[in-house]
Amino acid sequence: MRLGRIFGIQIIVNSSWLFIFALVVWALASGFVPFQTAGLSPGARGGLAVVTALLFFGSVLAHELAHSLLARSRGVPVSSITLFIFGGVSHLEGEPKNAPGEAWIAFVGPLMSLVLSGLFFAASRGLGPEHPIGAGLEYLGAANLMLAVFNLLPASPLDGGRVLHALLWRWTGDRLRATRAAGLVGRVFAWIIITIGISTTLVTGTAGGLWLMFVGWYLLQAGGAETMGAEVSQALGGLHASDLMLPPPAVIPADATVEGAFEQVMRFGGRALPVMLGERLLGLLSMRDLERLGEMPRDLAYATSIMTKLESLERAAPDEDAVAVVRRLAVGGYHQVPVVDTSDRLLGLVTRESVLRRIAAAR
Ligand SMILES: [Zn+2]
Repeated sequence: MRLGRIFGIQIIVNSSWLFIFALVVWALASGFVPFQTAGLSPGARGGLAVVTALLFFGSVLAHELAHSLLARSRGVPVSSITLFIFGGVSHLEGEPKNAPGEAWIAFVGPLMSLVLSGLFFAASRGLGPEHPIGAGLEYLGAANLMLAVFNLLPASPLDGGRVLHALLWRWTGDRLRATRAAGLVGRVFAWIIITIGISTTLVTGTAGGLWLMFVGWYLLQAGGAETMGAEVSQALGGLHASDLMLPPPAVIPADATVEGAFEQVMRFGGRALPVMLGERLLGLLSMRDLERLGEMPRDLAYATSIMTKLESLERAAPDEDAVAVVRRLAVGGYHQVPVVDTSDRLLGLVTRESVLRRIAAAR
């Protein structure tokens, strides 16, 4: 769900956030003691709960905006911010160029939460904690403090994990070694959180521990993916699309019928094959393209009439950065990206298999 843009950054709300939002409103309206004892009408209580939840939502957004705006001022473009169950993620398009940049971009978010926490606590003091609005502000102060503390845990992808990575990077001068060491610390922390979760559940028999187990499990998954991404970037650093590509297993001539073309596709395990006019790439033909055939008999239709045409294909130039090509392959969920020169001559295909082979060779 897109909410709009702030400072040119797209703000997206994950559906899980709506659930959390409803849960916070419900908990505040029905279970938050200061709202109960203040003698408010149910309507006023509900209204106060919604405003408090909205301010909490705004606090998470301010935390992410702090990351995003500092990243942008340090030359890392930011496309969007997604708010989801654990808070938010800023989508940076690229990586900070140096360790101090990474440390500050990661640290400024929790710093923003700490500042907000201080402001909410101060405002709550001003009104007095007996005042229902004062109590709401105190709640927001505590929520922002928790947001800051949780995010400072040294487990990537939490902010604290990135600060740790930047410090290790600065200390060792080796980005990949820093990634591995920070990844290890993150895994240890994730396991500590899981262990606390399991023992809480066993000792108290309440559901609170399940939540901790879930958080720990999430950190294990996300941290592992992050370490692997860094290893891939390292293995492919300085390479280009032309270093990743392999020749196509077979090609389909432009005058082939659908019948003949699919015999070829089947012979090579159902993989997409390039349709060629001489050395020029016209398009790719895969099993999925058969849908476009409709009622036409296979031996009368030409492969060119149902293939995915070059204009609508994701393709790469031979000198394109290898990491950028792999990112496109992964993000778009493509099975292959053809590498073509400026006159549409096919040079090779970058496939998942060809990328894995190159990474294996680099070790
Ligand atoms: Zn953050």
